[in-house]
Amino acid sequence: MSSWLHANGDRGTWPATWYAKGLTLPDPHPPLRGHADADLCIVGAGLTGLSAAIHAAQAGLSVTILEAQRVGWGASGRNGGQVGSGFNWSQRKLAAKLGPDKARALWTLAEDAKTLTRDLVATHAPEADWRPGILSACCTEAEFAAAREAAAWMAARHGTATEILDRDDMEARIGTRAYAGGVLDASGGYINPLAYALGLARACIDAGVTIHETSEVHRIAPGRVATAQGTVSARHILHATNGYAPHLTAKTAARVLPINNYIAVTEPLDAPPMANPVAVADSRFVVNYFWQTRDGRLLYGGGESYGKRFPRDIRARVRANIARVYPDLRDVPLTHAWGGTLAVTATRLPYLAELAPGVFATGGYSGHGLALSGLFGKVCVEAMQGERGRFDLLAGLPVPALPGGRWLGGWMAQAGMVWGGLVDRL
Ligand SMILES: Cc1cc2nc3c(=O)[nH]c(=O)nc-3n(C[C@H](O)[C@H](O)[C@H](O)COP(=O)(O)OP(=O)(O)OC[C@H]3O[C@@H](n4cnc5c(N)ncnc54)[C@H](O)[C@@H]3O)c2cc1C
Repeated sequence: MSSWLHANGDRGTWPATWYAKGLTLPDPHPPLRGHADADLCIVGAGLTGLSAAIHAAQAGLSVTILEAQRVGWGASGRNGGQVGSGFNWSQRKLAAKLGPDKARALWTLAEDAKTLTRDLVATHAPEADWRPGILSACCTEAEFAAAREAAAWMAARHGTATEILDRDDMEARIGTRAYAGGVLDASGGYINPLAYALGLARACIDAGVTIHETSEVHRIAPGRVATAQGTVSARHILHATNGYAPHLTAKTAARVLPINNYIAVTEPLDAPPMANPVAVADSRFVVNYFWQTRDGRLLYGGGESYGKRFPRDIRARVRANIARVYPDLRDVPLTHAWGGTLAVTATRLPYLAELAPGVFATGGYSGHGLALSGLFGKVCVEAMQGERGRFDLLAGLPVPALPGGRWLGGWMAQAGMVWGGLVDRL
């Protein structure tokens, strides 16, 4: 089965994102040639794989990472940079569906994920520039009323502290009246995700991890991983390719659905819209998300597609979304535009599994991967060492195979996504 890895170019090099612009990009790590042994072999050097590698190396395991392209080349180095709270399901939905005890344990895990991300940034990648504040923006009055009520519920149950903003407050803060209101969560934040991934890769090398780039894995079997030019034998294996190669293990292929998402960045604006910058994510089914860079650009994400190929004109696609929120910026030059592949599951809860003794797989974070990926990598390492508590909780989340099975399931789920996007537009 062809993978999403080669559908859109950028072979062996990072895409020309705004994130890459100001960074010194590292020299390549050599590809795998011949045979190697390790305690742990990780397939994929995104945030999941890099976090697992750091934690495994710190626990004394020998670790080899095989990355088809470059470190952080996938979603991890090109996403919207927003580190939010919780899972795709609200806490209230988790409590209703899974029971209050499990929901509370999951909230603790999600908080741990956010803290881990903030700590990893501070320790290994301060240049990723953590800035606090995620504002959930509501498109309609009904959504705003529900969001206020949910914020009160969270404060009572989990002691969260958020700020409620009405339409006037939103205008004062982010310079648009497009939203009925919003809820500001100062415990979340936003970063340059490529700087973060590259910082974690440096930490891996310092901890003794071996990284092979341009080493695409073709086969994962218990105890053994193979590329075209080499093999690694390992007691533990982690399949961490998320949307780019779920087909490498059958159970993952049936549960992890790749989708593409797009971002564009304006030139520095004469009058940047946000007086008091925060990162914004709105309530559309296909979320629009944006923030203001320190040099006064708007970084704007929005628009999805469900085939493998990116549209020819990504700028046009994102510009239409910008214009709905900031009509005055309708014609502003966009200096950078790119696409990336992430993954969702049928229930929008993340996928984690031990496929065979010692073979682990994870992904499908459904838009919450910037925080969750680091924790899921860490939790896999805990399980490898016999600490199963957090692993079993996450692996027990309801993530069924996509309806229609491995082949048809993708098409049916994509049809559902297209429908959701259509409802947004209407
Ligand atoms: C445009 C966009 C915006 C997003 N915005 C946000 C956001 O604001 N907040 C948020 O929480 N999440 C966001 N996400 C999702 C988030 O980026 C992902 O959930 C997260 O980065 C997943 O990390 P990962 O390490 O599991 O996967 P990836 O970062 O995708 O890494 C997988 C790696 O595996 C490699 N690989 C693939 N196949 C093979 C193979 N056969 N052999 C070897 N290596 C292979 C790839 O090259 C890649 O480097 C966004 C994603 C995109 C694309």
